[in-house]
Amino acid sequence: MNQYDDILLQMLNRLKLTAIRDNLDSLLDEAARQDLTLREALIYWCKAEIARKDQRRAKMATSIAKFPYVRTLDDYDFTAQPSVDPKRVRELSTCRWVGNGDTVLLQGPPGVGKTHLAVGLGRAAIENGYSVFFTSATALAVNLVKAHQEGRLAERLTYYAKPKLLIIDELGYLPLDAKASHLMFQLVSRRYERGSTLVTSNRSVREWGVVFGDAVVATAILDRLLHHSHVLTITGDSYRLREKRRSGLVGPRPTAEL
Ligand code: ADP
Ligand code: MG
Repeated sequence: MNQYDDILLQMLNRLKLTAIRDNLDSLLDEAARQDLTLREALIYWCKAEIARKDQRRAKMATSIAKFPYVRTLDDYDFTAQPSVDPKRVRELSTCRWVGNGDTVLLQGPPGVGKTHLAVGLGRAAIENGYSVFFTSATALAVNLVKAHQEGRLAERLTYYAKPKLLIIDELGYLPLDAKASHLMFQLVSRRYERGSTLVTSNRSVREWGVVFGDAVVATAILDRLLHHSHVLTITGDSYRLREKRRSGLVGPRPTAEL
């Protein structure tokens, strides 16, 4: 290593250009091999650095998001779930709706891939540069009630209001009491027209009065959430049961009684 290399490494360190630092020889060789002009070479090196920074940011943002499992939209088998329009999902994966602060509501019975799609869309949002946080509706309600009891509600609301996209999974599996419903309303109001929300639910919006135990609160929450919203209703069979049925592990789907 000559003295120039030494100075260069020190400067790259100080500027935190780690991709250029770690691949210095190959980046220089490649620029020479392709006979790049100085300007082209600079673009090529900056691209390498940006790719590394984007990758790092996505990794960090994914760990902050707390997804329950690793799934992508590419893993989703659309032929198994004809009620999901791949074109609509592709359009949602551009994340324009996140930028606009809209709501996505995924509703349908258990096992049809609501959480899978929510995680996939969450990852797409991260790739598009947005912050994401995933929580079950129950954990969210429990945390808000606890924070309220401990006099930390404002702090907690700020925490949940921060991510550009908040994913609330499994709303409706357990009904929420009046206190929890009211706190949920506060959160939804706080995020309204700022943050974007994705909700998965096994209940249709008509049944949200039951979920929140109070028709007035349910209407107020729905009013804000559905103002700018994209609703995907998935009808169909549980994916896992379908796989088991195929392999003969469980019997055929019961036909409706006439
Ligand atoms: P729910 O609708 O209850 O949230 P999940 O999204 O958790 O269901 O799906 C249950 C399991 O089945 C997950 O492991 C998910 O990845 C898988 N799954 C569901 N639907 C599909 C599908 N269409 N293609 C691939 N995997 C699927
Ligand atoms: Mg689920």
